[in-house]
Amino acid sequence: MLDWVSREIRPILARVLDGRELAPDDATALTGVTGRDLHALALVADELRRRQVGEVATFVVNRNVNFTNVCIKHCTFCAFSRDHREEEGYFLPVAEVVRRAREAWDLGATEVCIQAGLPPKLDGRYYIDLTRAIKAALPDLHLHAFSPEEVLYGSVRSGLPIREYLAELKAAGLGTLPGTSAEILDQEIRDVIARGRITVSQWLEVITTAHALGIRTTSTIMYGHVETPAHWIRHMALLRSIQKDTGGFTEFVPLSLIHSEAPMYQKGLVPGVRPGATGVEVVRMHALARLMLGATIRNIQASWVKEGPKLAQTLLAAGANDLGGTLINESISTSAGAAFGQLVGPAELCRLIRDAGRLPAQRDTLYGLVQTYRDGESPDSPLDKIDDAEARFGSYRRLIASGEFRFTRR
Ligand code: SF4
Repeated sequence: MLDWVSREIRPILARVLDGRELAPDDATALTGVTGRDLHALALVADELRRRQVGEVATFVVNRNVNFTNVCIKHCTFCAFSRDHREEEGYFLPVAEVVRRAREAWDLGATEVCIQAGLPPKLDGRYYIDLTRAIKAALPDLHLHAFSPEEVLYGSVRSGLPIREYLAELKAAGLGTLPGTSAEILDQEIRDVIARGRITVSQWLEVITTAHALGIRTTSTIMYGHVETPAHWIRHMALLRSIQKDTGGFTEFVPLSLIHSEAPMYQKGLVPGVRPGATGVEVVRMHALARLMLGATIRNIQASWVKEGPKLAQTLLAAGANDLGGTLINESISTSAGAAFGQLVGPAELCRLIRDAGRLPAQRDTLYGLVQTYRDGESPDSPLDKIDDAEARFGSYRRLIASGEFRFTRR
């Protein structure tokens, strides 16, 4: 296969196939591959995937709850947040968050994922109290919640050091943290796209402290805006070095920018911003993630929310081994202009995986297999019988229009 590959790329891919760690300079050389070299990169990523995680491809049955869109920050890529003075600001009471979590549990979800904006003057212990309330009602539901930005906010607002704050969250029943608010872990880029956002060193402190306390996290990258390919590789090299130290990451999730409603693009706030990643960039990103990270972070997720179910399915042949979650509610990408809806049911995720030639399995948040679906088997989930997810579960559009849970300054 490598006979078809250009002379510069061939030795790099050969070394990877020999089991050598991909050096950052070699990885950077791979960020520009096209044509046959791109196919070869994807094929090598697929081979590493086969060696590292086998033929099973997974998904999780989960629900997102974004309990408020009111936020004191102004990240230019974010179309979800609202200023506290705006009419479209909402804040779900704890009882409503618990109700949504219970509804998901009753529909077979194993996880609820909670992330939100940072409302002004939030009680610093809010995240701890919310965790406790959910776990009191649903002790066996896995709570995957609070970005490093939210953990930092809770720590600052409560006056508790990050370590103590995380320890209290864990004691209250928090399962894992999303490794979001990472975007690109490069301070210069962050200062351009989200001045005032959690810094690189603060992000690293929250994540490594969580890992030290036994709280595992995911890891992410947001790309397709003003970063260069060299930033991708430095970002992945940094995650790889953390993982070698802590082993705390469960997965890596590339998140391409949804640009159409993002203020950085729509209002021209960031000069030179790209309109998201191209399809080729998306393939390169997932394949490179497998090459850079797969030996240490075994699970590479393709996001159907960002890429659409069809491209996400295709990425299963380019290094990915997971399609993420059913979600049920999706606000952040939808508000930014994503057009892929907010629910993909378990049977449909199985169909996509099986058609890609892989063995579908439902997993839990920590990648323990819940159920594997052999030939002819398919999930029998009520989620697959729901025709109109927006009517059944509500949506971001309805939430901001209805005023039912309008944010009021307390
Ligand atoms: S990305 Fe998060 S912190 Fe930034 S504005 Fe949006 S909700 Fe707020």
